[in-house]
Amino acid sequence: MDNSAYGDYQEVRFEEYEKICRRCGICCGSLNDPCVHLGREEESGKYYCRIYQNRFGIRETVGGRQFNCVAIRDNIKMGALQPQCAYTATTKKDFCDSGNISTEIF
Ligand code: SF4
Ligand code: SF4
Repeated sequence: MDNSAYGDYQEVRFEEYEKICRRCGICCGSLNDPCVHLGREEESGKYYCRIYQNRFGIRETVGGRQFNCVAIRDNIKMGALQPQCAYTATTKKDFCDSGNISTEIF
């Protein structure tokens, strides 16, 4: 696969990966003490990050707790996904299908 084809492939996989998210906001504290940057769409009730493109780093919850915002793939690698997260089911499926947690899409 040449570089251009590989770039296209990565883009498609990235979109597939992003679509897995249900936007429940649980990874950003929607069930208890949310991140101050967590927003919610009025009509759909879905959550979103107000600073998505610059989200990584030390952040703070509404309750004043500091934490490090990391990519969801880092949570997957650390085994730190919430059980309700859509990626939990995905990585379990990949694990069952291949014998390994797939990191191809990350
Ligand atoms: S900064 Fe991180 S934790 Fe906060 S809402 Fe955005 S993605 Fe979620
Ligand atoms: S917990 Fe999982 S499914 Fe829910 S918003 Fe976070 S990444 Fe998406």
